Amino acid sequence: MRTPLVAGNWKMNKTVAEARELVAGMGQNLKRIQGVEKVLCPPFMSLVAVANLLGGTDIGLGAQNMHWEDKGAFTGEVSPVMVKEFCQYVILGHSERRTYFGETDETVNRKVLAAQRHGLTPIVCIGETLAQYESGQTADVVRRQTLEGLKGVDAAFAPRLVIAYEPVWAIGTGKASSGENAEFVHRDVIRPALRELFGEETAQSIRILYGGSVTAANAPEFFAQPNIDGALVGGASLKAEEFVAIVQAAVK
Ligand code: PEP
Repeated sequence: MRTPLVAGNWKMNKTVAEARELVAGMGQNLKRIQGVEKVLCPPFMSLVAVANLLGGTDIGLGAQNMHWEDKGAFTGEVSPVMVKEFCQYVILGHSERRTYFGETDETVNRKVLAAQRHGLTPIVCIGETLAQYESGQTADVVRRQTLEGLKGVDAAFAPRLVIAYEPVWAIGTGKASSGENAEFVHRDVIRPALRELFGEETAQSIRILYGGSVTAANAPEFFAQPNIDGALVGGASLKAEEFVAIVQAAVK
């Protein structure tokens, strides 16, 4: 009942020309796949170019971050109003933003509420660090990030939310979580927190993606889990064929 979603987070990679080339490489093969929501998240500089290439297709476009204010004296920032001109989605609270740019549950929450205000679908990233994983704090950390990050979201908007569980120790390391471990966190930690916030029916309707070293080879293991509703893909989304194969693996 939850349509799988696969999003590619290009991070700080690809010039505009390279972005065009990557989208062209995915081409018809990506367009042809049905039954999966497909989303590309290039850097800000390439959003306009990629939006032009995706026009008239069912492939969605997402930003990798945004500010929570609509406009004003925030040098270097990009507002939800600007993102909304080209995108339907926005990644919020990625662990790299939390680690390198000081994002907290509170700033992530402000951004989630801004996405709600502007009708953007937020892909809200949560996940524990290696130290937290090793000291048995995964459930506490992930639960807190879910509850704090989604505070104040309206019940009517909640079904639009997308959560990405991304254990920090699995991002860009080549050491993916096991499907079983990710399923445990999705089923026994995140979905119960969503239930607490929005009730059973809405909690069941919210997509929870897995992210962290997903490849075409390991994707089927994740997508076979009942509570894993797709993937947020970093490194592998920069390779056209690999990304298309991951999207294909998400078809039910
Ligand atoms: C990410 O950037 O969200 C991510 C999961 O990266 P990777 O797939 O490279 O681990």
